[in-house]
Amino acid sequence: MIIKITNLSLGSHEFTFEESVENLGLEKPFYGKAKSSIVLNKLYDQLIVFVTSDFKVQFECDRCGVEYKSTLKSDYKMVYLMNEVPEETDSIYVSYLNRDADKIDLKNDIREFALLAIPMKHLCKEDCKGLCYKCGANLNFEQCKCSNAEIDPRWKPLINLKDKLNLN
Ligand SMILES: [Zn+2]
Ligand SMILES: [Zn+2]
Repeated sequence: MIIKITNLSLGSHEFTFEESVENLGLEKPFYGKAKSSIVLNKLYDQLIVFVTSDFKVQFECDRCGVEYKSTLKSDYKMVYLMNEVPEETDSIYVSYLNRDADKIDLKNDIREFALLAIPMKHLCKEDCKGLCYKCGANLNFEQCKCSNAEIDPRWKPLINLKDKLNLN
């Protein structure tokens, strides 16, 4: 993930990298190879680098416990400055380079931003039904017999009414 910058002409350049997550220093939930596409814009005293990476991940669903595979996209923009005074930047990350720097290494940044891209919630699918809290059945695959114990609160008033009617 090293880009030589010494002989790079001014203007926009594109690169792609494919690297195993092990080489990026990433562990579970990451696996396999990560693909990164880089657009580097070289100016007189700065490099503007836009990195988009795709990662393969495997999570355990928070609701049903099933392992599922997914992809994570992570992107960031980094400005490498070679002048003393940084320009005002907004949601852009800034690094400083020595004037005589001959290359930039993206590996550490790609790792950091991959870790930031991990979601807080892991669901095998948006509407995962989870496990029955009584018998542990995976409700995505089977409807267990305990289901009538879980009454949708919206129906409670009706059920109460029905009970009253039955009494009469
Ligand atoms: Zn699930
Ligand atoms: Zn059950």
